[in-house]
Amino acid sequence: MDDQQLWNIGITHLQTLYCSVPREAEPGLTALVTRYSQTKAELAAVIAEIDAASVCRHCGGQCCLNGKYRINVFDALVCVARQNIPSALFAQKPVCPYGSRDGCSMEPGVRPADCILFICDALDEKLSPDSRMILAAGEQELRACIEQASLLLGEPLRTPLLLWAEKQSDINSIA
Ligand code: SF4
Repeated sequence: MDDQQLWNIGITHLQTLYCSVPREAEPGLTALVTRYSQTKAELAAVIAEIDAASVCRHCGGQCCLNGKYRINVFDALVCVARQNIPSALFAQKPVCPYGSRDGCSMEPGVRPADCILFICDALDEKLSPDSRMILAAGEQELRACIEQASLLLGEPLRTPLLLWAEKQSDINSIA
């Protein structure tokens, strides 16, 4: 099975999972989706303030190459909840399937948490102590959201989507 098929399986399974969330769990999940997205957007704003755009332009986005496993199950579930599913073009490897040579196709609020949290050396040098504290707190917040949502849905939402999809297809082939 290739990556494009796994992506399609993963998104289809997530759509089913999202539609089958028990009514009593819906408010909790909605709150976690909102918290997760807001935190990502806030962290991205901290990085933008240190002029990340020019650093990334200069580097050419090396950290975005081969990014197919960056999106985890909860990242993708947020896209499903917002009906804002990114296109995924695995044939453009080593360019990330969720972006292009011009950058990421996802807004910061729905970008994979791993991408939001990754700080390269060039960016790290520009961070103030205050920014570091905000980033550390935001990282804890993102991890807490994933953990709580995983408990709520009974699924390991921190797993990369493609690996989770592979497991779903294995389960279906056994059943
Ligand atoms: S998802 Fe976006 S930010 Fe993350 S590696 Fe791919 S292009 Fe880069």
